[in-house]
Amino acid sequence: MTAATTRRTAVPPLAVPDHEVLVIGAGFGGIGAAIKLKQAGIRDFLVVEQAGDIGGTWRDNTYPGVAVDVSSFTYSFSFEMNPEWSRAYAPGTELKAYADHCVDKYGLRPHIRLNTRMVSGEFDPVNHLWRGTTADGEMITSRYVVGAPGMLTQPKPPDIPGVADFAGPTLHTARWDHGIALDGKRVAVIGTGATSVQLVPAIADRVSSLAVYQRTPIWVAPKPDLEIPAPMRVLFRTVPGAQKSLRAATTALTETFMTLGIVHNRQLPLLVKGIEALCTAHLRRQVPDPELRAKLTPRYGFGCKRPSFSNEYFRTFTRPHV
Ligand SMILES: Cc1cc2nc3c(=O)[nH]c(=O)nc-3n(C[C@H](O)[C@H](O)[C@H](O)COP(=O)(O)OP(=O)(O)OC[C@H]3O[C@@H](n4cnc5c(N)ncnc54)[C@H](O)[C@@H]3O)c2cc1C
Repeated sequence: MTAATTRRTAVPPLAVPDHEVLVIGAGFGGIGAAIKLKQAGIRDFLVVEQAGDIGGTWRDNTYPGVAVDVSSFTYSFSFEMNPEWSRAYAPGTELKAYADHCVDKYGLRPHIRLNTRMVSGEFDPVNHLWRGTTADGEMITSRYVVGAPGMLTQPKPPDIPGVADFAGPTLHTARWDHGIALDGKRVAVIGTGATSVQLVPAIADRVSSLAVYQRTPIWVAPKPDLEIPAPMRVLFRTVPGAQKSLRAATTALTETFMTLGIVHNRQLPLLVKGIEALCTAHLRRQVPDPELRAKLTPRYGFGCKRPSFSNEYFRTFTRPHV
């Protein structure tokens, strides 16, 4: 057939998506992705967030003592360092404020739709786009999807028979009810994970008695949690590189504990033994009673359960009402 006699079949035009990119979740993952999209010149993106506010983890977790376990100098965007941290390990409220700062500074608010939960999605191979559906049944189409829904957003109540019949108020740390006053009350905490390590010392002063139910003890290292004095904050604001150097040091510390000590524990057994010795000496310094100390001593290697940092956790158990 010659070119002159070729019959052309009409190709239907591809459907145009609502947005180039759909980002699911407005925690630090979604916020970081949105900033980078904007910086890459991609303006047509939508961030959907199921809750009524941004911030993810740091919006939901407001329990007493909530703070980062990775120094704030490291636990922040490398391109948006915050000279205003009050401590080396900032409290949760400062993390939420930092999330709001990032959203405002990078002009993300107009791109964010709150109270919008994605419940399903499928790829349309004919039109080369994603069709996502919200809990309200609305369809949102996009060329690309960035999933940033977090791992820890759904509280898991303890699966204990009879727990629902407990007559007193019950709280979950990820949905803390600030209307319930613990002052002078008999309180029981279930669990000894990283959250409990922060919560137990923070409420011990206020309650009349505190019982902590532990399945498995936790490895706890000392926390180099220093207050950041005002002159240092001035230094961070004015001297380029000052905070960057500190960030390099706190990141090295985090990598040593969390990456080398946990992920590469088999390759570096001496490092793991060293970290365990540090934690054991910390426990010995804070808990003189050998029987109590035995209860708080992990019988598994560092890193088999998420470890934590605290200068108060162990010592709290030596108090008569705990
Ligand atoms: C108490 C606590 C302390 C922590 N401390 C540290 C620490 O010190 N260092 C560290 O590295 N990590 C820490 N983490 C882990 C922390 O979760 C991550 O560091 C980080 O905040 C996760 O960010 P993310 O954006 O991935 O998820 P999230 O912060 O969980 O945000 C996900 C967002 O997606 C939304 N979402 C979920 N599903 C949907 C859906 N279907 N549709 C629309 N929106 C949806 C959620 O509402 C949420 O706002 C901590 C976690 C907790 C709970």
